[in-house]
Amino acid sequence: MKINEHYTEIGNNYLFAEVAKKVREYKAKNPDKTVISLGIGDITQPVAPAVIEAIHRATDEMADARTLRGYAPDYGYDFLVQAILKHEFIDRGILVEEDEIIISDGAKSDTGNIGDIIGQENTVAITDPAYPVYVDTNLMTGRKIELLPCMPSNGFVPPFPKRSADVIYLCYPNNPTGTVLTRDQMKPWVDYAIRNNSLILFDAAYEAFISQPDVPHSIFEIEGARQVAIEFRSFSKTAGFTGLRCGYTVVPKEIKAKTSKGETISLNALWKRRQSTKFNGTAYIVQRGAEAVYSPDGQRQTRSAIEYYMVNAKIIKTALESLGLTCYGGVNAPYIWCQTPDRMTSWEFFDLLLNKIQVVGTPGSGFGSAGEGFFRFTAFGNRESTVEATERIKTLF
Ligand code: PLP
Repeated sequence: MKINEHYTEIGNNYLFAEVAKKVREYKAKNPDKTVISLGIGDITQPVAPAVIEAIHRATDEMADARTLRGYAPDYGYDFLVQAILKHEFIDRGILVEEDEIIISDGAKSDTGNIGDIIGQENTVAITDPAYPVYVDTNLMTGRKIELLPCMPSNGFVPPFPKRSADVIYLCYPNNPTGTVLTRDQMKPWVDYAIRNNSLILFDAAYEAFISQPDVPHSIFEIEGARQVAIEFRSFSKTAGFTGLRCGYTVVPKEIKAKTSKGETISLNALWKRRQSTKFNGTAYIVQRGAEAVYSPDGQRQTRSAIEYYMVNAKIIKTALESLGLTCYGGVNAPYIWCQTPDRMTSWEFFDLLLNKIQVVGTPGSGFGSAGEGFFRFTAFGNRESTVEATERIKTLF
């Protein structure tokens, strides 16, 4: 047999594995030191009680033959689709239809797997820096990638591709930079996609962290987007589901593509065909938990966890700025993107923080070459360690 050799092009070291290795080695050599992590974007606050109660109830249903559930419907239970439709779209005045919402086990799988329905010969444009899944999954299939650098000089607004791109990945609020596009900044991208017959893959995993009114919660707020965009959503950061696993993808029926024989195909039908063949549904108990996010208690409790994280973001950003460091993000996203001091590389700053004050963050260069010279702090820590980390950082300067 032959392997898919494109896998050899993506390298072995996933960014967070490299960070974890360095931390492990440091701890082994310095067992007396306490390391604080403001690194990985994982939750630290307990899952909302309303969600936990719903999961308990659903688990009990599994113990009774009369209420037992087996395989879930391929595209998700209707109770969850209806709850998402109402709260995320209808209540915000955004046009999405129920058969356009396809439930999954999260946005990582969906942003990675969407490549299955996209021709290998497409050119792909990806913002730089970016969540590594977009670049790596396209390298795995051998697609040509153009990176769109997002830096202070362009206000972190991606420039249009130099050569027209068939597929464009946008992620807002952005991981890792924490920056956003306003409605006025997003509209030209929708227009670009319409003009160039391109598809926008819009990752809205951090939508719940938006605090400013001119930032769209969904790309479908932008006129014309239903013709050209697929949107990925996740309960991971919104409601603490990183360990429970639930997300959904919205594929409007208007998005069409032509086959080489001139036949018109709906991407909604194609994605459903892919999912029903390769995915067997998100667990019933997890979908009941996700439904409970939309109960009044669930809404209040998940909101309060997001507010908690955003207070952390403010603490980190204020501390870094008081030291004269330049920071972006942290207002509509749980990430602070900090320019390294004294022109240090991202990994030099990582080593300095780990060795001198035992604080861990994520080197910006790990998200792409335009991330060199930047460092990502996350607001997902608990309050005590966030405050302690900022106190330690203050001793550095
Ligand atoms: N998209 C972005 C931009 C992310 O940062 C992450 C996780 O960190 C994901 C998707 C993955 O989300 P999920 O947990 O739903 O797979």
